[in-house]
Amino acid sequence: MSKESKTTLLYISIAFLFSFLVRFIWFFQFNGVEDLKFNDTLMLTTNDAYYWAEGARDFLNGFHQENDLSPIYHAPSIIIAIFAKILPISLEATFLFLPAFLSSLIVVPIILIAKNLKNLEMGFIAALLASIGVSYYNRTMLGYLDTDMLNILFPLLLLWSVIYAIRTNENRYLLILAIEIIAYRWWYPQSYSLEFSFFALIVFYTLVFDRKNIYNFKLLSIVLLAMMGAHEIVRVIIVSGLYYVFTKERYNRYIYKIFALSIVAFLVFGGLNPIIAQLKGYVFRDELLKSDEGMGLHFFSVMQTVKEAKQIPFDIFATRISGHPVTFSFAFLGYLYLLYRHRIMLFSLPIVGLGFLAYSGGLRFTMYAVPILAFGMAFLISEFSKLLPRLRVFALISLSALALYPNLEHIYNYRVPTVFNKNEVDILDKLKSIADREDYVIGWWDYGYPLRYYSDVKTLVDGGKHSGAVNYPVSYILTKPQELSAKMARLDVEQTERAFKLREEDDNITLFSNIEELTKEYGFSDTNDFLASLADIKLPQKTRDIYFYLPHRMLEIYPTVEKFSNIDLMSAEMSKPSLFYLAPSFKQLEDNTIELGHGVSFKNDTIDLQGKNYPLRRIVQVGYDKELKFLKHIDELDSTSSISIIYLSSYNSFLVLDESVYNSLYVKLLLLDEYDRDLFEEVISTPQAKVFKLCQKIE
Ligand code: MN
Repeated sequence: MSKESKTTLLYISIAFLFSFLVRFIWFFQFNGVEDLKFNDTLMLTTNDAYYWAEGARDFLNGFHQENDLSPIYHAPSIIIAIFAKILPISLEATFLFLPAFLSSLIVVPIILIAKNLKNLEMGFIAALLASIGVSYYNRTMLGYLDTDMLNILFPLLLLWSVIYAIRTNENRYLLILAIEIIAYRWWYPQSYSLEFSFFALIVFYTLVFDRKNIYNFKLLSIVLLAMMGAHEIVRVIIVSGLYYVFTKERYNRYIYKIFALSIVAFLVFGGLNPIIAQLKGYVFRDELLKSDEGMGLHFFSVMQTVKEAKQIPFDIFATRISGHPVTFSFAFLGYLYLLYRHRIMLFSLPIVGLGFLAYSGGLRFTMYAVPILAFGMAFLISEFSKLLPRLRVFALISLSALALYPNLEHIYNYRVPTVFNKNEVDILDKLKSIADREDYVIGWWDYGYPLRYYSDVKTLVDGGKHSGAVNYPVSYILTKPQELSAKMARLDVEQTERAFKLREEDDNITLFSNIEELTKEYGFSDTNDFLASLADIKLPQKTRDIYFYLPHRMLEIYPTVEKFSNIDLMSAEMSKPSLFYLAPSFKQLEDNTIELGHGVSFKNDTIDLQGKNYPLRRIVQVGYDKELKFLKHIDELDSTSSISIIYLSSYNSFLVLDESVYNSLYVKLLLLDEYDRDLFEEVISTPQAKVFKLCQKIE
């Protein structure tokens, strides 16, 4: 092995270990917290992780339920399952640690790219910086089991092989690049735009600088065939065959014909479909809406509650990419200088461009810019240290440490807990032994993936399925009175399964939202008429059991949950939100007034809402004693009023609410224990959450 190869290997090993071990800072901060563990292992740190956990579990078991939305055959599930199989650790431990392992692999292409630029030191520094850059770390920390684990590795591998292909013209990079593209798309279907940008840059390079070189046409042909819309296996076979042809010089005279054929194949096999779909979305928007109109129901949009897709301040943008606005500025200058000195690095523009899109398009893209700006910073450091020949090593080390510092500081302070705690998960685990895999558990979408992972049941909504149309019935069920909720639950579950079946039987069937289909099914043309008749309608045949998961933590988002069904679907008019105020803290004054913050206070039987006094209908105290026995005390006051107060003694907090919230399924079943025994049966009850089952009687 050459000295250069040895150094390369050494740098890769050190950088990999660094990246891997830094991710254990979080582990040591939290490993003592039993509340965040399940089966003695720290739980996961992002909601979406439970989606892949479900897929991996099902893949390992070799089965899942029809229409349970498990991503059993998706690439991440399969890769995770393979690691779980070969690693001598538990499935849960694999989920926890795998992100640290896979995400640290980015140091390999980074150092190899630098090796090609004859600047291994720069590669080493860039690898350290990139692997722990703020936004990359945030999305690849322990327990962050998501596509992000490899979503930076793949673009860097593409960059590495494009650079090597163009600089060496060696045949093997043709095959390597093609396989990377196929693997990248398999892992992350949204990778198309980045692949296509690389292709466009190679076209540009070929036309402007290197038109006579037939290697470039080989490269373009194989990239096109790797990108076209056909099954992965088909594409692997095609590009392998083509690679074989390309290695035989006697076929060189056919290269332009092959190139032309590749373009045709690319077009015929839907290579441009993603672009056409995008364009349709923009250009023909009105038309699409019209043809899909149906009854034209208006649902509350999730975009109105998700804050991610907003412009972000420059400070946050810079910090997420390079740890600090100052380091970002140096890194950016260094990147420009790097582009000037090493033109080949212009091929990194698509990646950094995607990262900079974050500036207007949402935080999660910033991580794409992390490794490329890390190159910029590392190049600046290595060039600067050359100016100080005697202090070179000292300059390299101290400047690198300075650049690393804000990122490490962030990691040390980024103490995010796991998304669920032990008590909640114990409930879900218990539910697994009660509910059948074909049963539905109704809960807000935040609990969809974890419900499916821990309880292995079906859900109506989850982290990926939560449009206004699917949220509407779930919101309705949670926030309306029990009898209506029970009916809606049965209707929505049966209609959901029915819609799956109908779609299986007929690919081209047009099905609108469940609520619209139900409205028509029951012979109405106005959804409000259908809803008004809900109490009297005959329910469909029961095919499975239905459970309700009601966690205490949903109290904080109750007003958001309510919004989705607090809308007139026909006219798009939002009703006035219910009175719902969960006091963050309270203070008792000497005259017995209890102040609840935000201008809300009450004394005896009167409540003061921001300066206006109202009589109270009742004051309720609920809680659990030391044996976890439920206790309730109600003071009935003015029955003409609609405002009540509930004191939650176990949580030491006050809730101010009106009659519509008071009578909602969520409050009656979870907080007040006043449920209709003919409709619901309690199956799990803890202070953190309760689970109810829909009774047979109303079928
Ligand atoms: Mn399942």
